[in-house]
Amino acid sequence: MPKKPLLEFTDKGIYCAKGKFYIDPWKPVDDAVITHAHADHAYVGHKHYLAHYLSRDVLYYRLGEINLQTVEYGETVFKNGVEISMYPAGHVIGSAQIRVESQGEVWVVSGDYKTEDDGVCSPFEPVRCNHFISECTFGMPVYQWKPQAQLFEDMNNWWRHNVENNLATVVVGYSLGKAQRIIQNLDLSIGKIYTHGVIENTNEALRRNGVILNPTTRITIDSNKEEVRKGIIIAPPSSVGTPWMRKFQPYSFGYCSGWMAIRGSKRRRAADRGFVLSDHADWNGLISAIDATGCDSVYLTHGYTASFTRYLNDIGFDAHEVHTLYGGEEETPPQPSPEGREQQLNEAQVLSSGEDLGEANKALPFGEGLGGVEGDIL
Ligand SMILES: [Zn+2]
Ligand SMILES: [Zn+2]
Repeated sequence: MPKKPLLEFTDKGIYCAKGKFYIDPWKPVDDAVITHAHADHAYVGHKHYLAHYLSRDVLYYRLGEINLQTVEYGETVFKNGVEISMYPAGHVIGSAQIRVESQGEVWVVSGDYKTEDDGVCSPFEPVRCNHFISECTFGMPVYQWKPQAQLFEDMNNWWRHNVENNLATVVVGYSLGKAQRIIQNLDLSIGKIYTHGVIENTNEALRRNGVILNPTTRITIDSNKEEVRKGIIIAPPSSVGTPWMRKFQPYSFGYCSGWMAIRGSKRRRAADRGFVLSDHADWNGLISAIDATGCDSVYLTHGYTASFTRYLNDIGFDAHEVHTLYGGEEETPPQPSPEGREQQLNEAQVLSSGEDLGEANKALPFGEGLGGVEGDIL
């Protein structure tokens, strides 16, 4: 009888029967190992959580009181004789690839990852394994990222130009990941950084966790609009098109997303500027990361799984498409038709229901409500 694989794909998530634990389960379980704090990977309701220590305060902030054990990269934990260790995924602060080993069989669950060093989170480290579980959010050749330095030079020039023309500058990005990358790469000689409450709550959680970020100022009902106009405003996708944002008029509005690489995305977002900035690997990043593991087989969990799996098999990998519920945040591709858009939004709302919702009403500047969710990423 063939040996049962160490990890299997179940309707609750990726499961290790021998170790009796799940990785990024989407249904409540006793023992969950978490790759990172994004809502489609870190669900509420598990009895025990294991995560990287830099995910600690964001997990507490998003999930409330949970029973959490944290580890450093490279540290080893045993569960029922199965060895677990974490390695940097380079996706967001605290994100980890989970390495699982038993009797010489090694699996790596990468969660979400990017291969470019963003200078904010620990850079992606390839880990040798027999079986590699990978995302492929941007698994199409059209997705090729520019070096980050070039992108932030464009963003700083745009900001400077807006200040000179007495326009407010609003830049939109996800609250965990993109927001911190933007904050750390802005030219502070131009002005101050202001944040929407949802972004600032995440910054505060990270600072409690010991992360040092550039100074930011939370926008409140008392914020002086003329002062804010000279700075830059970091806002979450959920704030787009809301009265909250309209208070800053006249403004120039920039949207940060990997999808901005496709023509028409900026227009669909009604943005003045589209910045192709993603916390996921681009096409070349995915292939180089998979290749560097030296794996015997690779499993694709979310993104362009069908076409990317076919491509990998064509170039000599043993690739398999698997069904999971991952994909939220930035991970749902834009749909051209109104029907497609509606369907995408419904799915995105379900998948990312933990992402910054609920928080949206806590620190509302100008007393306005917010529409939409961060899952809406057209
Ligand atoms: Zn993620
Ligand atoms: Zn994800």
